[in-house]
Amino acid sequence: MDHEAIIVGAGFSGIGAALRLDRAGIHDYLVLEEGGGVGGAWYWNTYPGIAVDIPSFSYQFSFEKNPNWSRVYAPGAELKDYAEHCVAKYRLASRIRLNTKVLGARYDDDLDLWRVNAAGEEITARYLISATGLLSKPRMPDIDGIGDFAGTVIHTARWDHNADLTGKRVAVIGTGASGLQVIPEIADTAGKLTVFQRTPIWCLPKIDVRLPVPLRSLLRVKPFATAARLFGHAIAEIQFPLLVHYNGVLPISTLGQAISKAQLRWQVRDPRVRAKLRPDYTLGCKRPSISNTYLATFNRPNVALETAPIETVTAHGVRTADGVSHPIDILVLATGFKTWDPENMPAFPVHGSDGVELGGWWKVNRHQAYEGVSVPGFPNYFMIFGPYGYNGTSYFQLIETQMRHIVRCLARARRTGSTRIEVKPEANERYFRTMLQRQGKQVFQHGDCTGARSYYYDANGDIPFRPTTSLETAWRSVTFDLDDYTFAAPA
Ligand code: NAP
Repeated sequence: MDHEAIIVGAGFSGIGAALRLDRAGIHDYLVLEEGGGVGGAWYWNTYPGIAVDIPSFSYQFSFEKNPNWSRVYAPGAELKDYAEHCVAKYRLASRIRLNTKVLGARYDDDLDLWRVNAAGEEITARYLISATGLLSKPRMPDIDGIGDFAGTVIHTARWDHNADLTGKRVAVIGTGASGLQVIPEIADTAGKLTVFQRTPIWCLPKIDVRLPVPLRSLLRVKPFATAARLFGHAIAEIQFPLLVHYNGVLPISTLGQAISKAQLRWQVRDPRVRAKLRPDYTLGCKRPSISNTYLATFNRPNVALETAPIETVTAHGVRTADGVSHPIDILVLATGFKTWDPENMPAFPVHGSDGVELGGWWKVNRHQAYEGVSVPGFPNYFMIFGPYGYNGTSYFQLIETQMRHIVRCLARARRTGSTRIEVKPEANERYFRTMLQRQGKQVFQHGDCTGARSYYYDANGDIPFRPTTSLETAWRSVTFDLDDYTFAAPA
């Protein structure tokens, strides 16, 4: 066996997994990363205007707080710097193999280990930890003729920094969180910018300020750093878990919609444009966004909002269903990511015990995973982001919660000399049923989500997010019953 553990992905999930394994005394691991650098989403996404969309104080590890954030919502480059800082400080580089795409993994029942296909080379390990995240595979839109466009096409998740937008006719397709950030930035340089919106997004004010140096030095003092982190967590908790999972009992969406509508009235002059930008679904059905500049961009004389459906992309532009042709030089796709699609969940083919393939298993049995971490029939396989694992708060809360769970399993295996850890089907079933029962208060039940086109839904119509508060998820990670797993030693 080559290693005790393989971690797939060197984004924050993979870095966090590595740091937690080290802390647990498990040093023989290898991190495999497709990209040429660490940081995951923050390595790949470098479009103009990219920034974190929850307060930076909660977008960091609890044990490695960064006192250098320049703003409440730090720009993307600072997140990448923070990832590199963690790798350097904790001396992870020698255990990360970059430019190495994992093509598949197969469990060896005889030897209780994973055989991982790392860019064609087989590497074996007792444990396999998937740290590939939900938002890593860019989604190309299924629009006719897109391959015929003669100009430059750029997906926000793979920004082309050689493309010069100055004075050009630019079109953006997509008005999600990425579109919201990129549109105000490129409106300054583009000669003409046409934004193709299919579904409007709820846009809330961003309470963002620059953090002056004296304030940043306060963040070096533990109580202040802790208070800032708690503040960040509270905002993140309101922004998703409370808004979405407790919609039936808390009036957050009503309040948020009123604030968002007020911002729209205040920032957009033309009432017809305002009407087009106003969503008709309940806030929370799809991820809302925050910006102080997005809506006002539509007041600019060089920016047009187009809501007629796109019929086709031609060699020289976009034609909409009303027969109008929009000539363009550059097409920006802010069209998001493959999320619960079979190509992304799992991110690479995973064959468990007896050769069962995970994507196929989920297709038949619906997305499910015990505590969002493990699946029966897939021994020694753990996920940071699994079905019903993430409750939508800070991603760092998820990473630390899931790693607490995983480390408890590995520690018991060490104590008992076990080589095979597998969640019991009945424990998984119990957890799955509980998650489904807990969905009753969600916005998807209480709000009107018909027009939302939310990427939260999978092909079965399920929404595999964890319908609980962050406190509860954290508590579960330290209290779940280890007997929900079988720990087996070689015969
Ligand atoms: P997204 O939310 O999935 O938005 C994709 C956009 O493209 C939507 O407006 C969608 O319209 C549109 N679209 C897709 N296919 C289309 C088609 N065929 N025709 C017309 N329009 C089409 O993707 P995203 O903006 O990249 O954001 C994804 C997630 O990434 C966010 O929810 C957030 O969690 C994360 N994110 C975070 C940050 C941050 O922290 N700073 C920044 C960016 C993204 P419909 O709505 O009609 O489908």
